[in-house]
Formats: sequence, structure tokens, C-alpha cells
Amino acid sequence: MFPKIYTTQNSNETRTLGLDFAKNLKGSEVFCLYGNLGAGKTTFTQGLASGLGIKKNITSPTFILMREYQTCNPSTRNPLTLYHLDCYRLEQVADAKSLGLEELFGNPGNIICIEWAERIKDLLPEKRIDIYFENKGEDEREITIISNQWPNKRI
Ligand code: ADP
Ligand code: MG
Repeated sequence: MFPKIYTTQNSNETRTLGLDFAKNLKGSEVFCLYGNLGAGKTTFTQGLASGLGIKKNITSPTFILMREYQTCNPSTRNPLTLYHLDCYRLEQVADAKSLGLEELFGNPGNIICIEWAERIKDLLPEKRIDIYFENKGEDEREITIISNQWPNKRI
């Protein structure tokens, strides 16, 4: 089942991939997104957010490190918070720790998306969904998903 590899030909397809993921979330999923600038990590997160019913425009939280968005779980209707982190400009892991990041993991009311997750690799939970974005051309992206917790057999 994993790794699962997708190729997208434009940003809309990457967004749709994120959107499809949102349909089957139970809560407490941690998405760790890896890949160069422009590889599509934020685009994927935008799709995920929109699939979770978040209407706000999602931009990379590069300078403030973390943003949060309130919504509700599409299946249970319970309150859900999407936390979007971007560790690109993180100076030290202690900065991520001081955000209280570790306390956010494992809570079914939270979904967490972390861009440049490798920069805080010692903080990442074992249960997570790793997604690697690779630039294959101007508009082509290869997206590899590796998970030890993803429950959806269709993906
Ligand atoms: P990252 O967050 O990884 O730095 P972004 O999602 O912010 O990347 O930016 C991706 C850029 O690449 C956007 O300008 C987007 O329009 C463009 N793009 C072109 N093709 C794709 C694709 N297949 N998937 C995602 N983004 C694409
Ligand atoms: Mg980004």
C-alpha cells in the first residue's frame, strides 16, 4: 500500500490531492512535508485546508512559523484545529519546542501540517504521514506518501 507515488501536472492537481486527503481524516494526523521551495508543500496544504472546510486563504507561515485555523471534522463534526507550520526559517529546534508543538501531537482535535519537517526531525512523532515533493519539471511534481498510520485503504 505504501509508499504511494502520485505525479501531478499542475498546482490544481496537487491541491486536489490534499483535498482528497481531508475527506478521510480522523483527527490527530501529522503531515510532514518535505521538498525544495516551490515543490508544492503549501499548495497541498491549501487543498487539505479547503477539504476541511477552511475558507481562509492559506499562505506559507514562513515568518511566523505557525498558523492555526478553526474548523470541524468533516465526518464527526467535532471541532478541529488545523495547525500549519513552516520550518524553513527556523533557527533552532528550541524555537519549535517553545511553540508547544509536542503538546499538539496525539490530540484528535488537531491536524498538523509541517513544511520542512526535516528541520525538526527529533520532535516529530513516530505516528505520522511523510510526504515528499519533488520538482520534475516546470509544472510536474512527484509526490510520494509514506505512512504508518493512514487508515484509508483506497489511497
Ligand atoms: P512550497 O510550499 O513547496 O515551497 P508552493 O506550494 O508554495 O511550494 O509553490 C508551488 C509553486 O509551483 C506554485 O507557484 C505553483 O503554482 C507551482 N506549481 C506548478 N506546478 C505545480 C504542481 N504540479 N503542483 C504544485 N505546484 C505547482
Ligand atoms: Mg511553502
